[in-house]
Amino acid sequence: MKKIAVLTSGGDAPGMNAAIRAVVRTAACEGLEVLGVRRGYTGLIDNDFKNLGPRDVANIIQRGGTVLLSAREPRMRTLEGRAQAAANLKAAGVEGLVVIGGDGSFHGAYYLMQEHGIPVVGLPGTIDNDLYGTDHTIGYFTAVETALDAVDKLRDTAASHERIFVVEVMGRHAGHIALDVALAGGAEEVFLPEDTKHISEVVEVIRSSAAKGKTSSVIIVAEGYPGGALGVAKEIDAAGFDARVSILGHIQRGGSPMSSDRILASRLGEGAVRALIAGEYGVMIGRHNGKIGQTPLEETWLHRKDVNRDLYNCAKTLSI
Ligand code: ATP
Repeated sequence: MKKIAVLTSGGDAPGMNAAIRAVVRTAACEGLEVLGVRRGYTGLIDNDFKNLGPRDVANIIQRGGTVLLSAREPRMRTLEGRAQAAANLKAAGVEGLVVIGGDGSFHGAYYLMQEHGIPVVGLPGTIDNDLYGTDHTIGYFTAVETALDAVDKLRDTAASHERIFVVEVMGRHAGHIALDVALAGGAEEVFLPEDTKHISEVVEVIRSSAAKGKTSSVIIVAEGYPGGALGVAKEIDAAGFDARVSILGHIQRGGSPMSSDRILASRLGEGAVRALIAGEYGVMIGRHNGKIGQTPLEETWLHRKDVNRDLYNCAKTLSI
């Protein structure tokens, strides 16, 4: 193996740059050339590649976002798009591809391998932490910290004005961020996409909080919970209370990655190159119980990574 390529795809996540750096520098240590693909699968189909050496990835480990840029590319969902992408990789002499992204990006990588024999390795780069096969995804720790910082600030206002705040955090399909933020932020209640809990339960929580002498409350809602924060606030208002809504949105995706994300990204990036060199393809590199390991790409989306219900129970106990 002489040459590999690396791309970032889907939503950006803090730590993607640390992963790119790790891929490029591990490859350089092993005598491999690296091509960086700009704008994810868009660059793969449009042949937008650039050589990356160890100095090209200097001073990026601390930067949020992705220096390679990212995109959502509909053409990758078509046979023609993937054929073009594979032809470009082969013409450039690329013998292995590292895809940093979420499960959508892994689907694209998997089809490139199945349909065109491109050796691919995935790195879990998404703030949502919703990929099976790794305890944490690159960007998750930083996203939780960013959301928590906002919740702490909102709690100051909630306490000073004796108000109820309903805060929406990211997580379209998974409540990992919401649950961590709820426990760490001392929230009174949390609503997750995985919940069967009815929205009206929030009213009981507010009533019992008031009965216990609480003068302010913070409710966390994952964006994927039906109705979102606006729906939950409407329910509270309808019961005669006054709720304020804060939707944190994209600020949770940016910012300098925390040490935990940089360390995870560095170790997984190194692991991705070592896997390609060893001829281990079609896998995602993840970390489980502190150990770097591999999971077949299909398994990352066929299995669901459940939220940790113990965290929910703990948050409820402590919100007494
Ligand atoms: P995030 O978790 O941040 O949303 P993601 O990788 O899941 O990241 P998606 O938008 O789902 O983000 O996918 C990124 C890109 O991967 C898509 O724009 C598309 O180019 C490609 N992709 C997604 N799903 C498929 C699929 N089923 N087949 C082929 N390519 C796909």
